[in-house]
Amino acid sequence: MLSLQAGYDDIRRPLERILEEFPLDLEGRSVLLKPNMVGQYGPETHVNTHPGVIRALVELLRERGASVTVGDNPGTTGYGMVEKCGRVSGIAEGSLGAFESIATEVERVPLPGAGTRVSVSRKVLDSDVFISLPKFKTHTFTRITGAVKNSFGIMVGGDKARLHLEHPGYRAFSEVLVDVYAVRIPDLVIVDAVVGLQGNGPTNKSLYHAGRLLASDNGVSLDAVMSQMMGIKPRSVKMLEVAAGRGLGEIDTSRIETTGDVGRLKGFRRPVPGLPQLFGGTWINTFFPDIGRPRFEVDEAECSLCGSCAEACPGDAIEVGRAGPVYDYSRCIACYCCMELCPRQAIELHETFSTRLYRLLGYR
Ligand code: SF4
Ligand code: SF4
Repeated sequence: MLSLQAGYDDIRRPLERILEEFPLDLEGRSVLLKPNMVGQYGPETHVNTHPGVIRALVELLRERGASVTVGDNPGTTGYGMVEKCGRVSGIAEGSLGAFESIATEVERVPLPGAGTRVSVSRKVLDSDVFISLPKFKTHTFTRITGAVKNSFGIMVGGDKARLHLEHPGYRAFSEVLVDVYAVRIPDLVIVDAVVGLQGNGPTNKSLYHAGRLLASDNGVSLDAVMSQMMGIKPRSVKMLEVAAGRGLGEIDTSRIETTGDVGRLKGFRRPVPGLPQLFGGTWINTFFPDIGRPRFEVDEAECSLCGSCAEACPGDAIEVGRAGPVYDYSRCIACYCCMELCPRQAIELHETFSTRLYRLLGYR
C-alpha cells in the first residue's frame, strides 16, 4: 500500500508513481474508472472524487494505450441523476470525453450472502481493468467510505435502496457491502485523500486536508490502513471485519506492507457512531427507539425543497412539506442516505444519547 504526498495542481506525478508501483496491462485494453460520485455536489465540497484526479488519470491511461470509460451510479434510486451529477461534480468535464452513463446495460448477478440478485452495470463486469477511485471520507453508519463502500455504486437503480431496507442492521448491511464488493474486485484502488471529509460523513462541510493519494491493489487492506489513519480501529469497521473473514484482504495493519506516511492524522474528527454500531446490532432500535435511532436537523434556509431526501429514503420516512422535510422516525432504518444525498448539505445529525455518550468517550 502506497501513501504519496499530492495536491490537485500537481497530481500527475503521484499518479504516475502509482501506475509504476502497481503495473497493469493497459495496451489495447478497456478500463473502467469508478469515481465516488455521490450526487450533485461541486468539486469545492469534496464529497465526490475530485475531477482533477480523474482528468490526469484518464490522460495517463490513454498514453499507455487503454480505452477508458468513467462511470458511476449515484443516488439510491433512479437513472436520471447520472448526467446531472457528472455535470455538477465536474467529473464529466474532467473525464475528457470518457464519461458515460453505465446504467443503460445491466446484468442480474447473485449476492450469495444477501440471498438475492441485483442489477450491476455490465460495463463493470465486462471491462478488462477496473479501477476504483474512492474519496477519503468518514461515514456515520459504516464508519468509513473507501474501496469496499465505493463498490456499492456498481449497482444500478433501486437495488441499493432495497438492500438498505432488507438488511438494515450494521452487521447484515456490512455483509451486503462485501457481497457487492466481491462481484468485481477492483484491480487497483486510488483514494483521493488530497482533501477529504471528517466528522459525521459521508457528506458534510467539514473538510480535512490530508494532501495525499493512497493506493493499493487490495482495497480491503487499503481501507484498513485508511481507517487507522483516521483513528478508527479497522476491526470496528464491520465491513472490513467481514471482508477479512472471507479472505478478501488483511486488516491487521501491522501485517500490511506500506510505503509513505500512514501515521494517524492530526486532529482528524472521527464520525460519532449510533448505538447499533456501539452495541453491534439493531435490537437497540427495536427496544429503545427513542435513543437508538438518529435524529436530523434541517437548515431550512439552505433547503430548496427539492425532495431528493424523500426520494432517497428506503424507509419512506420523509415527506417534504412547505418548510422542508418532515421525518417519521418510526420508519427510519438509520442508513443516512438522506444526509448523503441532500444536494444542499442542509441535513445534519442532531445530538442524541449516543452522540453525547461518544463525546464522553473522547470523540469530538
Ligand atoms: S430518514 Fe434518512 S436515515 Fe432514516 S431511513 Fe430515511 S434516508 Fe435513511
Ligand atoms: S433537505 Fe436537502 S434533499 Fe431534502 S428537500 Fe431540502 S434540499 Fe432537498
